[in-house]
Amino acid sequence: MSTAWIWDEKYMWHDTGTGAGPLPAGGWIEPMEHIEGPSAKRRFANLVAASGLLAQLVPVPARRATETDIERVHTRAHRERIAADAATGRGDAGDDSSPFGRESYDIALLAAGGVIAGVDAVFDGVADNAYALVRPPGHHASPETGWGFCIFNNVAVAARYAREVRGAERVAIVDWDVHHGNGTQDAFWNDPSVLTLSIHQDGAYPPGSGALGELGASGAEGTNLNVPLPPGSGHGAYDAVFTEVVEPALRRFAPSLILVASGLDGNGMDPLARQMLHSESFRMMAGRIKALAEELCDGRLVMAHEGGYSPFVVPFCGLAIVEALSGVRTPVVDPFLPAIEGYGQELWPHQAEAVARAAAQVEAVPVAGSGPGAGSGSGPGSGSTLRGS
Ligand SMILES: [Zn+2]
Repeated sequence: MSTAWIWDEKYMWHDTGTGAGPLPAGGWIEPMEHIEGPSAKRRFANLVAASGLLAQLVPVPARRATETDIERVHTRAHRERIAADAATGRGDAGDDSSPFGRESYDIALLAAGGVIAGVDAVFDGVADNAYALVRPPGHHASPETGWGFCIFNNVAVAARYAREVRGAERVAIVDWDVHHGNGTQDAFWNDPSVLTLSIHQDGAYPPGSGALGELGASGAEGTNLNVPLPPGSGHGAYDAVFTEVVEPALRRFAPSLILVASGLDGNGMDPLARQMLHSESFRMMAGRIKALAEELCDGRLVMAHEGGYSPFVVPFCGLAIVEALSGVRTPVVDPFLPAIEGYGQELWPHQAEAVARAAAQVEAVPVAGSGPGAGSGSGPGSGSTLRGS
């Protein structure tokens, strides 16, 4: 088992300037480093190196996504607007909360291209699976605009590349970032060849986005699943989501490639969410996705890094994921695990009800070989396929 590792120092040079939490600084808000700064990601990469794990991975260089790569998902107008604003030295991806600097257009191309490099590594047999520790993140970026610290939708660009260049018949994207993968949902809303499945904190971000019953457009019904979980959900709830939603949904869809939008902000000490996961939760999820990939698509699995805003917890969650992917266990013991494990990790009844509601959507997922939309007629979301925000 070998794991490709995609990382580029330039990812850390994406300049988001100053801010304060999710807000711009100003008025009575004293400036500090923007919350989507390099710290958490750099410390993740540093722990992979310091633990000795890096030496057992397959380093794969990122490349810049081409204009064609980006425009498989995004409008030309969006791409050109980002390029033009970056050339002025300062811009915003689209929501006045996603600032960027002069190099950020090139770095955003390098982030999308980093995930593409992971896809190539897996299809070319350079490695069995891949983790692309890219920045900026991508899953909030819709075809027309950036949003939520995201400029281009890295995982969506990689999915379209896999489909159109590498010949992948069906791609499944599992998004375990704690926020809804709204941009990815938008990108594939009409596309029955890509299953998008987002597990997120109910109502967290973007506001009003990611409800149950958003199953995809006519002709793509059942290829978008949202799993909104109550705040306070931890290991037990996510374990149940994998058993009741992720595994049965992917078995129905039978992807030729699995991509993961790997946000680590569901951790129990994240400042931008209220979930309870710890490093062993991410190890569990990564192990189960890897097993699914081995069962369904010859192990082809590529993870694209998304959010995660605790600079101290993110490195240990990330290390656990890469250990699971590579099958290598380092001597590192997560010093934050005992505290977070004590938060109450069992599956509470109100969480079990939320998981059951999401599980009821699984029968809408088309069964591979039965044609687009197969099985959607009896799904609980039939007739309620309106998109969210
Ligand atoms: Zn997030």
